[in-house]
Amino acid sequence: MERKGKAFIISGPSGVGKSTVLKALFEGRDDLYFSVSATTRDPRPGEVNGQHYHFISPEQFMQWINEDAFLEYAQYVGNFYGTPMRYVDEAMEAGKDVILDIEVQGAMQVIAKRPDTIRIFIAPPDWDELERRLTMRGTDTPEKIQQRLLRAKVEMKTAMDYDYFVINSTVENAVAELRAIILAEHCRIDERMDELMNI
Ligand code: 5GP
Repeated sequence: MERKGKAFIISGPSGVGKSTVLKALFEGRDDLYFSVSATTRDPRPGEVNGQHYHFISPEQFMQWINEDAFLEYAQYVGNFYGTPMRYVDEAMEAGKDVILDIEVQGAMQVIAKRPDTIRIFIAPPDWDELERRLTMRGTDTPEKIQQRLLRAKVEMKTAMDYDYFVINSTVENAVAELRAIILAEHCRIDERMDELMNI
């Protein structure tokens, strides 16, 4: 039977280490597709346009909203972020699992449109560690760091609405748990109906 692609939302507070975990998750996995978001924020050092994000102007972002090009979009700490719909659909049709690295408001919009999307929340081991990681990154002003921490506290409260909860104590653990979740979702009985009927 042809493998159908599934969509997985991965949310978690800014600074939780999602990018590092996702980078490791994608190693050697051409069955996974990373949904590259559009954003109006400036690139961080090392971020590549079209690979980490599509870095676009607020005007361009508004145009994409008007063209209904986003599966979801949200404002986050002063910038816009959105998921271009087309690539997600194309990847899923090609049988790939799509990973959406999006914050909680966007996650709610996706679930409203596509309730079969699987939601995974990644949390830091503790708050001190989160603040340390945000500070170490060195890309935000102290004010932005405080805004991101405040937002993180609000986001943590929504974790209960998610399907899975992963603590990023080490990258290896977090990746192993994410891989287990993706694998398990493909072993669900509704996914395996054809095989069941053919035995
Ligand atoms: P950062 O600026 O640290 O790259 O991202 C800030 C937050 O925006 C993160 O929580 C990230 O998951 C989220 N984010 C990234 N892309 C999107 C998107 O397309 N839509 C939404 N709603 N959030 C996104």
